[in-house]
Amino acid sequence: MTLTSILYTLGSAPMFAARPFLAAFVTALLARFGTHLPWLGDKEVMQVLSHAPSWFTGNLALGIFGALAVAEVASAKSAELRDLMHEFDALMKSVVALVVSLAILDPETTKVVKTIDKLGVFAWSFSALAASTVFGMTILRNKVVEVLKELDEDDDIGLQTLLNWIENIWTVMGILFLVLLPIAAVVLSALTALGLYVARKRAERKEEESKVPCATCGTRILPHATLCHSCRTPLAAPRKVGVFGQPKAEAAPDLALHRFELVARKRCPDCATRLQKRQVRQPCTTCGRVTFRDEAEFDAYLAALNRRLPRTLAICTLLSAVPLLGVIPGVIYYRLTMITGVRGYIPPLRGCTTKWIVRIVNWGVIALQPVPLLGATIVPLMAWSNYTIYKRSLAGRATTEFATAQMKELGA
Ligand SMILES: [Zn+2]
Ligand SMILES: [Zn+2]
Repeated sequence: MTLTSILYTLGSAPMFAARPFLAAFVTALLARFGTHLPWLGDKEVMQVLSHAPSWFTGNLALGIFGALAVAEVASAKSAELRDLMHEFDALMKSVVALVVSLAILDPETTKVVKTIDKLGVFAWSFSALAASTVFGMTILRNKVVEVLKELDEDDDIGLQTLLNWIENIWTVMGILFLVLLPIAAVVLSALTALGLYVARKRAERKEEESKVPCATCGTRILPHATLCHSCRTPLAAPRKVGVFGQPKAEAAPDLALHRFELVARKRCPDCATRLQKRQVRQPCTTCGRVTFRDEAEFDAYLAALNRRLPRTLAICTLLSAVPLLGVIPGVIYYRLTMITGVRGYIPPLRGCTTKWIVRIVNWGVIALQPVPLLGATIVPLMAWSNYTIYKRSLAGRATTEFATAQMKELGA
């Protein structure tokens, strides 16, 4: 165990938090062939890596890491696979980091079991520390990715694809940077993690601080809630809801409209808690209120959303008239005003088929862009067609869910 190997294990934590198998594959490749590279070959990190045991650098290990890295990069493109992996993501990444740090920290031994057996208390606690660093970083990374995902959930404007490629390239480049300047890389990693952590904590604290005590029972409630979730006292003046579901400074002028706005931002219409699931009927995790209690409530919701369509289309037309530059703000605008409130209630699998229909329609519409005058109609056309397709999908889903709920009621 040397200082350089410690620096490598710590400095590579952000790369393992992003693409663990790709990071492991690059590390194993460098350990096997790195000393032959020009410029990088004689760096101290490369020398330390080159002593890694053969179970880590052998053909079999390289083959397995390579295959897993390819699978990892490919699966990052699929939203369904990402959702599936989300549950044990941090754990799996920590395990990969642990295995790699065991290989780097004790290069003398030739077998995994022997490595584990031979490592002293210090080296073991250090490997555990490296793995838990990766664990913490993964959780931070996922929070950031989640925010970006909400902006362009179906990758209509390619934000997700861009983010995926940044992470792939960054994992490989980050490791090469680590070989070149280990101390600088460790400092940068630590600062990045600290920055993300502070930003996250501040956002959480802000939400906590924004809560107001209920006039009757004193329970702290969100300022854009309509009812106290504890004693059901209505709030005197609930605040407006922002584009990301956050409370705004000014009071909401119309209560009925405000409840609709909350649901459209995937918040509980009573207590304003964020709704986690992607289904039409779901009980709120704080107060238990079911969204869309009956079909009338659902129909009223769609009608309110429909009333918002003309204004959205008008703004989209204005933005679309700006050549090239207007397209992206236009797409983000209609997604936030019209699509989030529909798509957020469609389960992932149904969303998947719908997503492809929407994508094909969008490509067709974008192909019209070079045609003069037609340019201004591109974004409103996308907005209208996407909204119509998603709305149809949601209505179908709602019919099924209401029928199931009715069957249960009859059976009970
Ligand atoms: Zn109360
Ligand atoms: Zn609630």
